[in-house]
Amino acid sequence: MAQRVAKEGAISGQLTGSLHPMLRRVRAGNASVMTFTGTNTYLLGKSDIAIIDPGPDDSQHLRAILDVVGDQRVHGIFVTHAHIDHAGLAPRLAQITNTQIYAFARHQSRRVAPGGLLQSFKGGEGIDKSFIADKYLEDGEIIQGESWCLETIWTPGHLDDHICLAWKEGNGIFSGDHVMGWSTTFISPPHGDMTRYMASLHRLKAYKVARFFPGHGEIVSDPQILLDERIAHRLKREGQILTLLEESPKSAQELAFRIYPAAPAHVIPLGMRNILAHLLDLKDRDQVQAAEDKNICATDWTWSRNES
Ligand SMILES: [Zn+2]
Repeated sequence: MAQRVAKEGAISGQLTGSLHPMLRRVRAGNASVMTFTGTNTYLLGKSDIAIIDPGPDDSQHLRAILDVVGDQRVHGIFVTHAHIDHAGLAPRLAQITNTQIYAFARHQSRRVAPGGLLQSFKGGEGIDKSFIADKYLEDGEIIQGESWCLETIWTPGHLDDHICLAWKEGNGIFSGDHVMGWSTTFISPPHGDMTRYMASLHRLKAYKVARFFPGHGEIVSDPQILLDERIAHRLKREGQILTLLEESPKSAQELAFRIYPAAPAHVIPLGMRNILAHLLDLKDRDQVQAAEDKNICATDWTWSRNES
């Protein structure tokens, strides 16, 4: 996958870097298949700092952030979504810096499994169930710092509570896990929702900013092109699923093996979650139906194409 990397110094695990006179980044040492080189924590402003995505609950990362903060005031801690690799450190950091945690209002997942069997969907891994904000933001809410201004953009899809933050002075958007250059976004039902994700991609297009600052990976310097690519990628995947179901009914797992024929074994379960997200979206649009069996996991349901 082509990565879009802005010119900047090499920065990895715990090292800090300046991305803009007003913006610094500390990268957590939690590199993995899901987090790439680690979670990006952004520090916006010099004397009245907004910390965006504190990252995982890790003492080394906490020290690295506090080194950058120094004796400056922290205006608030903003969490793009309640996954542990973004929100985990928020309580400790808020206590030490004596500030408030901001996040989007808690939302129930729009999707529930038939019969309420949420566990059949699995896919709730990584949610920080203990996460609580001090202040819940509204869609469109503006937060004004001494020298920066952030606009809350509710972008559900990866997670129901996901927000992006538009930074006017920097002509950019802090895009969390919604749009990243290094990888497509993991959409795992029921908390991940493909219908909402696609709508949220279209929503960001309207902002026409010059750069995205994602939760993982490097700065995206051509966000409009990347948004178009991400939308096209999902539509292509949707088309593949429909074509394969026209052949014969299939489970999400069978679809994953056909769609990712060369994928390493650990990628197939992740691919299945994304495919399930597409199938639920297509079901809402009456294009497919499932033989839903409450006694088996949703990824084992057999899906078929509806007559058009
Ligand atoms: Zn996430």
